[in-house]
Amino acid sequence: MKPVMIITGAGRGIGAATAIMAAQKGYAVAVNYRSDKASADKVVAEIESDGGRAIAIQADVVDEAAIVAMFETVDRELGRVDVLVNNAGVVDQISRVDEMSFKRVDRMMKINVVGPFICAREAIKRMSTQSGGRGGAIINVGSAASHLGGAGEYVDYAASKGAIDTMTEGLSKEVAGEGIRVNTIRPGVIRTTIHASGGNPDKPDIAGSVIPMGRIGEPEEIANGILWLAEAGFTTGAFVDIDGGV
Ligand code: NAP
Repeated sequence: MKPVMIITGAGRGIGAATAIMAAQKGYAVAVNYRSDKASADKVVAEIESDGGRAIAIQADVVDEAAIVAMFETVDRELGRVDVLVNNAGVVDQISRVDEMSFKRVDRMMKINVVGPFICAREAIKRMSTQSGGRGGAIINVGSAASHLGGAGEYVDYAASKGAIDTMTEGLSKEVAGEGIRVNTIRPGVIRTTIHASGGNPDKPDIAGSVIPMGRIGEPEEIANGILWLAEAGFTTGAFVDIDGGV
């Protein structure tokens, strides 16, 4: 039986690169997406054409029932989850805090914070040695924004990733004795569709000049870190910064 990895938001960007790399390393992969079925199906087709195993599962991470159903589908079709990658996340239009609507901040926190908590809850139920599981790993995709702060751009996004850092700190200790490791990858600016969807399509071009290494990162460089954390048996509560030195 292949080890099983669930990756939220795996139709595009970092999640898609992670799904493809995970399948190459022998994982059966659940490719979660919210609305872009065609992209998720393409990731699955690429994995299958390479001889790997993957399924696409629609679930919005702000919908508790959909998250529960996603984990149940994985139980049935791939087997018990070994690794959860909490990757799905959004940014929003560039804005100062005094211009932010309640709706915007509420959406940001629901997708970037509440979703990862509920996915972690479902994973822990299946992984915990206290409830008969074999242990496992939870890898959160945070952001360098959690320590940079996002001033004048998206303090709400940065704060949502700060919550993920704190969740990692606490949850890693809470479940360390139950065979579950919890770690966070903190990417800097990476070449994905998130910038355009947040109304900031030029960010990758502009950011390269202010990053100490002089360039932005590629999704595969983050996937590489995620796959390392999936196997890093003595690492928990860690923050792995992959950001070109910001
Ligand atoms: P992306 O290219 O915009 O892809 C986002 C993925 O998340 C898509 O597959 C999307 O699904 C999915 N998604 C969004 N909202 C969702 C929801 N409510 N439920 C389920 N899936 C949802 O993003 P990315 O750049 O790869 O970002 C992935 C993660 O890395 C995010 O957590 C982001 O904050 C973090 N990050 C990115 C950067 C960067 O510069 N790119 C830097 C630091 C951290 P659909 O395609 O169906 O909409």
